[in-house]
Amino acid sequence: MRKLGEQIHRQVTKPWVIMEICGGQTHSIMRYNLQEFLPKEITLVHGPGCPVCVTPVEKIDRALSLASDPEVILASFGDMLRVPGSDKDLLSVKAEGGDVRIVYSPLDAVKIAKENPTKKIVFFAVGFETTAPANALSVLEAKRLGLKNYFLLTSHVLVPPAMEAILSSPESRIQGFLAAGHVCTVMGFHEYIPISKKFKIPIVITGFEPVDILQGISTAVDQLEKGKTNTENKYSRAVTEQGNMQAQKLLKEAFEITDREWRGIGTIPKSGFQLAQKYSEFDAELVFSFPEIKTNVENICIAGKVLQGLKKPLDCPAFGKECNPEHPLGAPMVSSEGACSAYYRYQKS
Ligand code: SF4
Repeated sequence: MRKLGEQIHRQVTKPWVIMEICGGQTHSIMRYNLQEFLPKEITLVHGPGCPVCVTPVEKIDRALSLASDPEVILASFGDMLRVPGSDKDLLSVKAEGGDVRIVYSPLDAVKIAKENPTKKIVFFAVGFETTAPANALSVLEAKRLGLKNYFLLTSHVLVPPAMEAILSSPESRIQGFLAAGHVCTVMGFHEYIPISKKFKIPIVITGFEPVDILQGISTAVDQLEKGKTNTENKYSRAVTEQGNMQAQKLLKEAFEITDREWRGIGTIPKSGFQLAQKYSEFDAELVFSFPEIKTNVENICIAGKVLQGLKKPLDCPAFGKECNPEHPLGAPMVSSEGACSAYYRYQKS
């Protein structure tokens, strides 16, 4: 790490702003205090790669409504439970008697559906391209088993359209990207090559260990200093250009690309997955009816700006005061991939 830091010091001649897309990388940067290894010319800003953070309030309110239904068992990964909806979170609904269960795989939710034929099981399917294949598989498995009581509440988002949206914003100051290795493990990196070309920006695929991230920064800085704008794979131990074809086949079978709302950012065209029409019987939003939901978002929270790299968590007036992990006002303070939670946990006072 020290050697890579020294290398970056030698490479840099002017200021550069680099965004790491993935919240997992943000946590590594804060945990290992990587900014300390970097020259002052390098500014790291944090991207929208926290699926829980970009899930719209309306979607969480729908999950809350389903979880309150006595006929429903709502299954979810653990970090969704404390994400605030308009007036409460899933943990509160569970405390009020709602059947909310934490699972480690959507296939566990399929198992619950099999074991509880009189109940309707809804899996809250949130995530990027990394988690989507397993969710697709769960629907195919439910169909294979002939289950009529398994449903997905889907909020899947895709990385490349979000990168394009960020770069297209007149406020954007991003000059280089670190792309998330795990997403590219599934999808490959061929989708990033046209983005590099269109926006004349280096995109470096990196992993999550501190040396991975420093190596990614060094590669991006090398390109920036030499005026190059390529997509470069520095996570070749896991990523190929084409990615995991089997996982992509599952995605193609179960999902269609759709416009998707990103919390705090707005609607990004063709930036998400929804269940394909032939699997509509598993789509919770088509099967269940929902009360009219009036969403309410905390005004003080600047999560939208944090997720676009326009502000950092410490710029938020509520950070560590009104907003903390015990009483989060926004999803980035809750999620294990949220930037605000990374600063709260690891920031040296
Ligand atoms: S510190 Fe809390 S209120 Fe501020 S941006 Fe982060 S989540 Fe929102």
